[in-house]
Amino acid sequence: MPKIHELSENLTNQIAAGEVIERPASVVKELVENSLDAGATRIRVDFIDAGLKQIVVQDNGTGIARDQVDLAFTRHATSKINNEHDLFKVATLGFRGEALASISAVSHVEIITATEGAIGVRATFSGGNKKGQEDSAARQGTKITVKDLFFNTPARLKYLRSPRTETMKIVDIINRLSLGYPHVSFTLSNTGKVILRTTGNGNLKQTVANVYGRHIAEGMEEFQAKDSDFKINGLMSKPSLTRSTRNFISILLNGRYIKNFQLNTAIMDGYGSKLAARHYPIVVLAIHVDPLLVDVNVHPTKQEVRLSKEKELSRLITSAISNALVEKVEQTSAFSNL
Ligand code: ADP
Ligand code: MG
Repeated sequence: MPKIHELSENLTNQIAAGEVIERPASVVKELVENSLDAGATRIRVDFIDAGLKQIVVQDNGTGIARDQVDLAFTRHATSKINNEHDLFKVATLGFRGEALASISAVSHVEIITATEGAIGVRATFSGGNKKGQEDSAARQGTKITVKDLFFNTPARLKYLRSPRTETMKIVDIINRLSLGYPHVSFTLSNTGKVILRTTGNGNLKQTVANVYGRHIAEGMEEFQAKDSDFKINGLMSKPSLTRSTRNFISILLNGRYIKNFQLNTAIMDGYGSKLAARHYPIVVLAIHVDPLLVDVNVHPTKQEVRLSKEKELSRLITSAISNALVEKVEQTSAFSNL
């Protein structure tokens, strides 16, 4: 039996990267979530070759101080939580301090960043090693360029799907995040060609129009409800406007796009028999809740979360949707039948 020894930091970062960074869309998700946590109001994402050749995310957020850049790329280093109490009330999208370390372990990264009124910095990392750093005359905000993703982990490359599918996954994550942040203007481009742009004017219906098209936005109605723990609001399609998959249902919990079967079912229950079999509505559901009721520390990508009072929330969602159907949709269709 060979001797036991500690793995190098580079190797542990590469292993950890396997959990957080599955594919190009994971890089996009992590970088954009960082931009949102940094308070950005404008975020540009540009990718080439389904994100494998290059991904650029640029924001106008707080920026990172010059002497903190190395820490930002160190695993388990974060500005977002301080102690074990904070872990139970996470209000930011990130908190694990893993993304930048993981991304830089499996690609070539350049960061250009500046905080307000400070001299900016440009630093480069490759395969987990720092390559260089110099001053830069950047404006406040952060621009991160990720090149040749998985260049040093060929097994991961083989596991990826077709360029078309990987591209769709990038588009999907930006769609959901723009729906969750109507106050933020997103621009997504593929090899320089803009494929999505949201105004960021705070209007959810406008954002739905940007993401899914004006026709769909016009076929949607607002709904909202609250109880002592939860506040929910969003847009829902009329029962006549459906899709053949559940992919047009987006659930955002305190701004975090989550996948949750129970809550999906609660939405469908709200429509009840008004939906034909295998027809799914288009819904954007924003849930606001005290972070104390949510455990986001369940899965590295944080798309699955554990929710206290999930049953109560489900009931609230079902009744909000069925009430809105009665109040708005049926009344307007009664009108149009006159
Ligand atoms: P986490 O988001 O979990 O803290 P990351 O590895 O994603 O971990 O980022 C590490 C740290 O780098 C963050 O805590 C934050 O302080 C800083 N950071 C990363 N991206 C940005 C950005 N776009 N703007 C400002 N600060 C950033
Ligand atoms: Mg992060």
